[in-house]
This record gives sequence, structure tokens and C-alpha cells, in this order.
Amino acid sequence: MTALRPVRGTKDFLSDDSRKRRFVEDCAHDVAVRAGFAEIATPIFEFTHVFARTLGDTSDIVTKEMYTFQDRSGESLTLRPENTAGIVRAFLSNNLTQQLPLKVFYRGPMFRYERPQKGRLRQFHQIGVECLGAGTPIADVEVIALAADVLARLGLKHTVTLEINTLGDTESRSAYRTVLVDYLSARAESLSEDSRVRLQQNPLRILDSKDAGDRAVVAEAPSLEDHLSAPAQAFFAEALAGLDALGIGYRVNRQLVRGLDYYCHTAFEFVSDALGAQGTVLAGGRYDELVRQMGGPPTPGIGWAAGVERLMMLAEGCPPPPRPIAVLPLGAAEACTALALARELRQEGLIAEFNAAGGLGKRMKWANRINARAAVILGSDELARQVATVRDMDSGTQEDVALAEIAGRLSQSS
Ligand code: ATP
Ligand code: MG
Repeated sequence: MTALRPVRGTKDFLSDDSRKRRFVEDCAHDVAVRAGFAEIATPIFEFTHVFARTLGDTSDIVTKEMYTFQDRSGESLTLRPENTAGIVRAFLSNNLTQQLPLKVFYRGPMFRYERPQKGRLRQFHQIGVECLGAGTPIADVEVIALAADVLARLGLKHTVTLEINTLGDTESRSAYRTVLVDYLSARAESLSEDSRVRLQQNPLRILDSKDAGDRAVVAEAPSLEDHLSAPAQAFFAEALAGLDALGIGYRVNRQLVRGLDYYCHTAFEFVSDALGAQGTVLAGGRYDELVRQMGGPPTPGIGWAAGVERLMMLAEGCPPPPRPIAVLPLGAAEACTALALARELRQEGLIAEFNAAGGLGKRMKWANRINARAAVILGSDELARQVATVRDMDSGTQEDVALAEIAGRLSQSS
């Protein structure tokens, strides 16, 4: 039945996984909304140029990872590989440029054609925030602090480390680029094929390579730090001072670069060593050129995105599902009354699951399997007396309770 296999790198979220995903996303949403980052949702596909133009023609995402297709009218569309470009597109198409700063939260599926492995899927989910219109380092501090708060809320305060770097401003980067190209060109034969191409097009990207040979060359490379302009240095120092003031620990990692073209100044990642090779749970940075690049007015921006599947592997504190009440009619004659009772219990705020299929023994097993705290059993005898048997599933004690009083009784014991 090969046709019924899921597509490689996709995953079904059965009930426990769905609950955990919702927990992770809702915790993040709650923390973000308290800080004034309202949730927005953009479409999961956009015109291809929204991504191709902004992420950079040489980025891994654009060259290898996008799900791009023509729709029936011949438009080239792409399933979103990330959400920043889509949010900036929405910011521009909805004329929000006069409403700055704009702070938003998002969640949802992203799509990348990657080699699937633990923590790396082709359809995965992200939560993230963007802050548009805030160009000073305190915005970096605010956005990073929000990330730290989300991770702390998920019980990861001591599981993840913040790594941070500056990519400098345009001036710093072009000065550095020259030096880096000289260094790398002299060692081109040790670089991977991908990186030899990047050497021509976007040498900074090589610093982000995961290839072991590349990493060895990069380890000895000249540092961007030595080529930062005075304003770029001051910007970074202020951001770090802000983190210090808030007591947020970090490690400056001079090798940290972001894989996309639109980043500048602060780049950061929260990493964990509990996830093997896919250790980055949350990553972000500043993108002051992106809005202008997409045809809008110059508007600074900063944001981050976190992988929900990776967070799910680490997160703590997801509560177990609340225990339901099992409502079980013994025969067909009692079924409607029992279903009406289940609906009444739900209206009272209780969780009531109804099951009229199969013998009573089988349904009591079912009640155990769904971890019911009580079973309400209704037979013809009970119906005639307008009562039902209410059984405490933990103690096994049971008593007859008048139908009209069941909701009240079970509400008290919930
Ligand atoms: P990586 O270095 O792992 O490829 P990335 O730099 O491509 O990550 P970003 O584009 O910064 O990742 O996305 C932010 C976060 O989204 C990552 O830190 C990770 O947690 C998650 N993520 C990215 N790609 C995937 C994927 N294919 N499957 C699952 N999660 C992912
Ligand atoms: Mg990637």
C-alpha cells in the first residue's frame, strides 16, 4: 500500500502529539501576547518571488529547499519555507507602514525540501515573532528577552544556551568580505563544492556551512569582529549591555552567521546539546534592509523563529489531558436519554464522552482506556426510576443518582 505512506519528512500529529504541540504554541502565544505581540496568520503559500528575492538567490533555502509549483493559471507559487518574508509582504500589502512599531506573533507549518532526520522535517512548524520599525539595540534586547521568556515558560531555562554575534552593518560586511574572500580563495581546494560556488556569490555564507571540511577552514578564518565599523561595534555593545542588565546569559559566538541574505547586526540562536546534530531550537536576528528590499520604505526589523518539533522534544510541563466522564447507555432504549445527559454535562463545563457501541464489558474497558474519572451507566431499570449509576473509576464505588442531579454531583468532584 505504498500510496498510503505519508510523504517523506511529514508527520501525523496523533492526539498526544497534537496536545503537546498546542501546549508549546499556546505557551509561546501567551508569553508573546502579554508583551504586545498580537498573533497574525499569513497564507502558507506566496508568490515565489516573495521568498526568492528576499532570502537571497544563493541561500540554501532558495537554491535547494523550496517547494515551488505552478498553479493552474501558471503563477509560480511557493509553500512558505519561513514566515518573515510573508509577514513583511503582509505589512506592505496591508499598508501598515504608518503603524510602527508593529509587533507580531505567528505559528504554523513551514515547508523545506531537506534530508529528513531527527528534528528535521519537510513540513515542520514554527512559532515566531517579528518587531518592525524598531531600530535601536533595546529592541534586540526586548525580542531576545521574549525568546528567553518563552523558553523559560517551557521549562528550558537550563537546557538552552543563548549564542549571539553581530553581522555588522553594510560597511563592516563589505570590508570583511574582501579579507574573507582572499583567505578562502587561497584554500578553495579544501572547501566543499557548495562553498566554492558561495565563494563567488556570497562568501559570508560559508561561515554557516555544516560541511566538516568547510568547518575546519572556517575555524581559522579572519574574524568579522576585526572589521566592524565603530557604529556597528557600539550597536552590539549596547545590545549585550542590555542583556547583562536583564540578567540574560549569553555566549558570543563569532562564527554564528545566519543563512539568509537579509540579516545585519545582531544574530542569535538558542541551542541545546540534548538534540544531537539539530541543536538549534530558536534562531533570529535583525533585518534592517528587508522591508526596503521588498519595495517598502526603509524600516528596521528584528525577529526570531523556533522549531516547534524541536521544542516538543525538550519542553516540560505539558499537562495530561483532563479526565472525562464516560456516559454509557446499556441498551438502545436508553441511548437518547444518555446522549442528552452527556450534552447537559458538557454544558455544565464537564468533559463527557458518549459510547453506545458494544457490550458493557467492552465499554468499561474503553472507559479505562480514555482514563475516565467516572462512568455514568444508564439501564432500563434506572431510566424507569429517572436515575443513573455513577461509578467512581478509581475507587470502584458506585451509587444511583437522580438524572437531574448528576451534573451538579460530578461538577463538585471535578
Ligand atoms: P538549521 O541550521 O537546523 O538548518 P536553519 O538555520 O535552517 O536551521 P531557521 O531558518 O533559522 O533554521 O529556522 C528557525 C528554527 O526552525 C530552527 O532553529 C529550527 O528549530 C527550526 N527548523 C528549521 N528547519 C527545520 C526543519 N527542516 N525541521 C524542523 N525544524 C526546523
Ligand atoms: Mg536549514
